Amino acid sequence: MPQVDPASAPSAPLTAVVTGASSGIGRAAAERLVADGWRVLAVARRADRLAELAAATGCQTLMVDVTDQASVDALVERVGVVFEGAVNAVVNVAGGALGVDRVDAADLTAWEGMYATNVLGTARVVKGLLGALRASGRGDVLVLSSTAAQSAYQGGGGYNAAKAGEHMVAGALRLELNGEPIRVIEIAPGMVRTEEFSLVRLGGDRSKADAVYAGVQHPLTAEDIADVISYALNAPHHVNLDLVTVRPLAQASNSQVARDRGL
Ligand code: NAP
Repeated sequence: MPQVDPASAPSAPLTAVVTGASSGIGRAAAERLVADGWRVLAVARRADRLAELAAATGCQTLMVDVTDQASVDALVERVGVVFEGAVNAVVNVAGGALGVDRVDAADLTAWEGMYATNVLGTARVVKGLLGALRASGRGDVLVLSSTAAQSAYQGGGGYNAAKAGEHMVAGALRLELNGEPIRVIEIAPGMVRTEEFSLVRLGGDRSKADAVYAGVQHPLTAEDIADVISYALNAPHHVNLDLVTVRPLAQASNSQVARDRGL
C-alpha cells in the first residue's frame, strides 16, 4: 500500500484526469484511483466503454481524442467545471503501437499516428492542463511511456521513436517545472498483457496478438501497472518516482523473454 504521509495528507479528495481510460492500463488506473479515494475524470474516444466505467466506479467521464485540439480544449473546459479549475494529477495513458514494420517497409502513416498519439497527444493534454495543475498547489504529471523508449528492437522503430519522444517530453518538462510543486513521473512498463494493446498493434489479428505472450505464464497486468501508478501518486509529495521501469519476471529486455519456464 502507498505510504501517505499524514502531515502532508490533503483534507479534500485529490483529483485526477486519466487519459486512455476506456481499456487496459488507463481503465485500471482510473478504477484504482477511485478506490484510493480520488475524484477521477476518465477520458478516451469510446463513449460506450466510458459509460460502463462510470457505472462501475462513479467516476466522471468525457469523450476526448488527444490528437484533436478542439477535443482537448473541451477537456480543459470540463476540468474548469467539475474540478473548479484545479487538478492534482494528469495521468497520460492514451497511446499505443501500430504495426511491427521494419524501417525498410515502414508504413509512415502509422508512424505519424503513433507520434500524434503518444508524443503530441501527451504534450497537448499536459499543455492544456498545466494551469489547472498549478492552481491545485500539489500537482503531478504522470506519463506512461514504455521500455520501448529505452532500447530499440527489430520491427519496433516507429513505436521506439514515439515512446522515446514521449520520454524526452517528460524529461524536458521536469526541468522546466523544477521549483514548482509539480512532480513529473514516468512509468515505463515492459510486457503487459492487456485486452487490446497487441490486438491494436497487429491489426486485429488475434492469433498474432496471443503469440506475443506465448509461454509467459505471468506477464504484467493492467492492475500491476495501476498499483505502481497508485503508489507514485499517493506517495508523500516530496518523493518523486522520476522514472520507474517495470517488467514481468520472465522478461530481461525487450527482446529476451524466458518462455515455457513457468514464469
Ligand atoms: P489499450 O488497452 O490499447 O489502451 C489504449 C488506450 O488509449 C485506450 O483506452 C484508447 O481508448 C486510448 N486511446 C488511443 N488513442 C487515443 C486517442 N487518439 N485519444 C484518446 N484516447 C486514445 O493499451 P494498454 O496496454 O492499456 O496501453 C496503455 C498505454 O500503455 C499506451 O500508451 C501504451 O503505449 C503503453 N504501454 C503498454 C504496454 C503493454 O505491453 N500493453 C507496455 C508499455 C507501455 P479509445 O480507443 O477509446 O480512444
